[in-house]
Amino acid sequence: MFWVSKMLKVFNIFKMFRQHKILVTVLLFAFAVQINAQHKTENVILITLDGVRPKDMFGGLDLDIVKAATKRGAVENTPLYKKYWAAMPEQRREKVMPFFWDVLMKQDGSIAGNQALGSIVQITNKHRFSYPGYSEILTGQAHDDVIKSNKNIRNPYPSVLEFLKRKLRLSKNQIAAFGSWDTIGWIVEHEKGTITTNAGYEIYKTPDQDASLLSKMQFEAISPWDGARNDAFTFRLAMSHLKTYRPRVLYISFDGTDDWAHDNRYDRVLQTLTLTDIYLQELWSYLQSQKQYKDKTTILIATDHGRGLTPSDWSDHGADVEGAQYIWLAAISPDSNLRGEWRNTGTIYQNQIAATMCRFLGLDYSEQNPEAGKAIGQLFTKD
Ligand SMILES: [Zn+2]
Repeated sequence: MFWVSKMLKVFNIFKMFRQHKILVTVLLFAFAVQINAQHKTENVILITLDGVRPKDMFGGLDLDIVKAATKRGAVENTPLYKKYWAAMPEQRREKVMPFFWDVLMKQDGSIAGNQALGSIVQITNKHRFSYPGYSEILTGQAHDDVIKSNKNIRNPYPSVLEFLKRKLRLSKNQIAAFGSWDTIGWIVEHEKGTITTNAGYEIYKTPDQDASLLSKMQFEAISPWDGARNDAFTFRLAMSHLKTYRPRVLYISFDGTDDWAHDNRYDRVLQTLTLTDIYLQELWSYLQSQKQYKDKTTILIATDHGRGLTPSDWSDHGADVEGAQYIWLAAISPDSNLRGEWRNTGTIYQNQIAATMCRFLGLDYSEQNPEAGKAIGQLFTKD
């Protein structure tokens, strides 16, 4: 019966190996989960600038627009040329957003969407205007047949902000959206009152006296547009909320760039970008001075749609405007090693932003929306 005991021994070894293999597999899996869980991000801030063209973002002053608008005299004598012109696109854009380019993108983050370098960011909705764009960002999916106007209609689909509130068990104050455009209040949540929202000309109730005054002043220092207040109020109220309630998720939605563009004020578009740059600097230095936020906060900066590419349609956007499907996306995160401009990275999409926000927090957005775009893998590669 020797061969039987030998067989049994072999069988036992085989069984042990099999068990061992399973154990190894289990350990590897646990290790992988552990690595995945080791994200530094504890807070996420989403910032959007409305309808900012990649052309202006990456190239600064577009001389063709200034030329076309200069009826008399040399373009070199225009205030815009004197203020913003330089030979290289890198120099021009730094004149518009010096902090963003010179500090943030060099030291702390990266930006996708410069087509000259082989990086494309595109929207997937076919409408190329604001509600569909913001909804694509916030729900992770285009719904072209349902979301097809800019009217103040409650978003029929739950947003990533609502998902984050539930998954992170946040109080209403710990997840907030501030917007210049009133419709933002309708887009950010599917169930009214889930999160803190303050958008358009809207009173912001707060124990902060300075912010209370600003909340009143928004009705006095009125903008040229009915549905959108000046970005300055949106930013200051959002900062007050940040300091008072220390949210873990904050969305700041600026609007001025789009409305000035529709008004054919290219000078004001660039000026608004410069103001946004100042806001980014103020926000960043505040975050880096706070234990809760320093090196634990991911910031994503995006735009809802692009605009036309030529001097005759740069101010416009919509389904028929070529170029308006192209956008850009910047990410500043302690969990991403990328710096500066993306190169030769192919195309990423607006519908990936929601899942990306979640992944930075170690969450899987497909739990809420399996059809949403997936998290942007390039942001998470370690090298
Ligand atoms: Zn617009």
